[in-house]
Amino acid sequence: MTSECISLAERVTRIKPSPTLAVNAKAKALKAAGADILNFSVGEPDFDTPEHVCEAGKKAIDDGHTRYTAVPGIPELREAIVQRFKQDHNWDYSIDQIQVCCGGKHGLYNIFQAIINPGDEVLIPAPYWVSYPPMVQLAGGVPVIIPLEEKDNFDLDPSMLTKYATSKTRAIIINSPSNPAGSLFSETALAAIGKMAIENDWLVITDDIYETITYSNGKIPHILDTDARLMDRTVVLNGVSKSFAMTGWRIGYSAGPAHIIKAMNKIQSQSTSNSSAPAQYAALAALTGPQDFPGMMTEAFLPRRDFCVNELVAMEGVTCVNPGGAFYVFPNFSHYYGREFNGKKINGSVDLSDYFLEEAQVASVPGAAFGCDDFVRFSFATSMDVLRDGMERIKKALAALS
Ligand SMILES: *Cc1c(COP(=O)(O)O)cnc(C)c1O
Repeated sequence: MTSECISLAERVTRIKPSPTLAVNAKAKALKAAGADILNFSVGEPDFDTPEHVCEAGKKAIDDGHTRYTAVPGIPELREAIVQRFKQDHNWDYSIDQIQVCCGGKHGLYNIFQAIINPGDEVLIPAPYWVSYPPMVQLAGGVPVIIPLEEKDNFDLDPSMLTKYATSKTRAIIINSPSNPAGSLFSETALAAIGKMAIENDWLVITDDIYETITYSNGKIPHILDTDARLMDRTVVLNGVSKSFAMTGWRIGYSAGPAHIIKAMNKIQSQSTSNSSAPAQYAALAALTGPQDFPGMMTEAFLPRRDFCVNELVAMEGVTCVNPGGAFYVFPNFSHYYGREFNGKKINGSVDLSDYFLEEAQVASVPGAAFGCDDFVRFSFATSMDVLRDGMERIKKALAALS
């Protein structure tokens, strides 16, 4: 042990490490030590990156694309992103409205660094993705959490906007389909957010990372389609991590007003410079090649989703919103809070998630990490056999509580 004579920056002491990555690490360590762990904590598809995408990455190396690229990304990739937005949504962007970055997470980081001043408030509906509040805090902003109701399927009740908005509100985050609940915002909710944003000069940040993994037939509502004026005040965050099973390649992208993208490029030029060149060529192959991969994954996820939801709601006292997208279920286990196992009381989601890991060898993520302590998140991006075994273990573990 070295002595901790050098103190840390105050901004670091204010935030916690990503709890999802922490649970994943603990589960992997237990597994490495020989425990029969079923890992439901993982936030990535259980598919390999498509072969043609991998080949494009390898070819990029062979072709000598091993140097710095332009800060916002290679022009071909930005052009391909412009085309995707046009084809998929009929949105018109120019190439200077696109930034390629080191994963969607990094894109969000750049956005907050580019627009938040100390004390600025950012509205974050809960359950929220774990990284939103700390990213806002790292930029000096204040996360303002809007609680969503399970009984509303975690849709936003528009009256909550006026309740939580203040004169310091600068931005709002939308994540539909969401991580952790797979929930969708209705067109009504999105239109209400858009109206408030226009009236009060808010930036809308829409994290669309799960847009290609949805279980409703047809298009899900998007805020940009509710009012054309929102183009001037919306940053769309997306990437290939989830849609093309490319989490390790670290390619995300943002689209938004040119002056905001330019500011984000300034931040990126003084931090990561650009994302990995070969990975950019791989992402180019993903976005310009066949687009059936996300649909193929979604087809595989659907029976797993149905199985998990059916199993969970059949357990005594458990409720679970049916996810409209993504690959997570977010059951409510609060019925069991206050119960005990071997004299140890389950006081909330952190205790319950620990209990699942230690007594049932099932790794999950406590809802507290997403701002909702009544819940626990399970990823169903794993095989049906593992899910069957896992749900059985959860059922037994819950029954063992007294
Ligand atoms: C996975 C994820 C991202 C982005 O992940 P990257 O691996 O950084 O591309 C962004 N938002 C949500 C809600 C996610 O689940």
